[in-house]
Amino acid sequence: MDFKEVIRVIPDFPQPGISFKDITTLLKDGEMYRGAIDALKERVAHLKIDVIAGPEARGFVIGAPLAYALGVGFVPIRKSGKLPYGTIEAGYDLEYGKDSLAVHTDAILPGQNVLIADDLLATGGTISTAVNLVQQLGGNVVGAAFLIELELLEGRKKLQDVEVVSLLSYE
Ligand code: AMP
Repeated sequence: MDFKEVIRVIPDFPQPGISFKDITTLLKDGEMYRGAIDALKERVAHLKIDVIAGPEARGFVIGAPLAYALGVGFVPIRKSGKLPYGTIEAGYDLEYGKDSLAVHTDAILPGQNVLIADDLLATGGTISTAVNLVQQLGGNVVGAAFLIELELLEGRKKLQDVEVVSLLSYE
């Protein structure tokens, strides 16, 4: 399946110089969406996964159906202030300013094998924060799966010791 054909690329969004990969055009196509999740499922089939964790919001769109397909649980990693129970949080730098992510303290049990999923790996800031949170809870991050990897940004260098799987790469 040619997934790139259904991903819309918008130049200079949300700011000049960024080539935005718009996956909404893939998501609305049922065959392509299912095909992409099935392809990711095959690519992580060799990993022993107890639970998938994904950062809001597009990490939910990839991580939750992948968890369903694998028959494992899904843990939402959210922006601070959204989760109702006790949380741990970690901050990270964005191109402009800072942000922070949170996860419920009982979302992952010590020793559980966790796959982290998101739509796109750019600088790796978001995913390394998610890795940090999972590890703080005692989880064992066995891999990180993405629909898209922006290779020139070298995000995978921030994810040493984690197996990185991506379906598509762009420069
Ligand atoms: P990063 O923390 O730099 O790896 O950025 C990761 C998050 O930002 C991803 O979850 C994407 O949703 C979003 N993102 C970053 N760059 C792009 C891009 N060029 N096109 C679409 N989404 C992007």
